[in-house]
Amino acid sequence: MNTRTGPAGQWGSGFESPPGTEAPRRRPRLRYELLGCAWHGHDLVGTDAATVVADDAVVVRESGGGPRWHRCLRCDAWVALPPPARPTRDGVPGREEIVLPLRGRPLKSRYILRLIAIDRGLHFLVLAALAGGVFAVLANQTALQQDLTAATSSVQGLFGADVLGQLQHVLSFAPSTLWVVGTGVAVVAVVELVEGIGLWRGRRWAEYLTFVMTTLLLVPEVLELTSSVTVGKLITLVVNLAVVAYLLLAKRLFGLRGGAGAEAAQRDRDVGWAALERHLPDGPTTEPPLTTTTGAPPGRGT
Ligand SMILES: [Zn+2]
Repeated sequence: MNTRTGPAGQWGSGFESPPGTEAPRRRPRLRYELLGCAWHGHDLVGTDAATVVADDAVVVRESGGGPRWHRCLRCDAWVALPPPARPTRDGVPGREEIVLPLRGRPLKSRYILRLIAIDRGLHFLVLAALAGGVFAVLANQTALQQDLTAATSSVQGLFGADVLGQLQHVLSFAPSTLWVVGTGVAVVAVVELVEGIGLWRGRRWAEYLTFVMTTLLLVPEVLELTSSVTVGKLITLVVNLAVVAYLLLAKRLFGLRGGAGAEAAQRDRDVGWAALERHLPDGPTTEPPLTTTTGAPPGRGT
């Protein structure tokens, strides 16, 4: 059986064919459904059901006394399993009991947003440490000034005159200035943390908050580059520009590319019962039976 020939265009944009069944491409394509199934296992239902009826054909089918075929709700592979020796429920769960997993573009979006969320978590840790350092200096400013004066020659010998000068400069700040700087850094750290939590949970408000904060921080990043250019600064700028572009275009903020309505339509197209019903082997459509990564399930009612 050729398992690499999904019917082109049959699955709609974002879910063109069952993950892993496309013809090989020169540039490999990351299939997020397979990542999810590698991490969580296939998302199967009815594995503990005593009986399977014809109405369950979207998610599980029987094959005349042989194994049952369970459809992975995430990656669309059909998995052959023996009926349970000790079933724990009479029938397959109804649709109202099943929580469908994300797939297609909504799933890809979740992975990308979570990558940004991890980046924001790292920002939070760095900024929180910085704010803690500023408040530590504020609490011990006089003692630190005396220690630095006593160890001037040692510090200069170990770290150089530039570092010594910067330490003296920081310790010479007025307490009010340190309060303002420490509080400002702490506030930004908390906002980064809130962004990260919101993005991890897929909240729309977090996408707007991240867009606003990242765009505002582009200004000092560009100004920094006018004084000196380093690889780290360039990477930070490129990453943040990519985040802004992704949020604007792919997440359709501010109504771009159809806005939230187009986003919801995309979600309906790739996720949901209609998407699952659209492509059934021997299903209600006239489309030919699909080949699958695991095997071809029996036709409806067999
Ligand atoms: Zn799967």
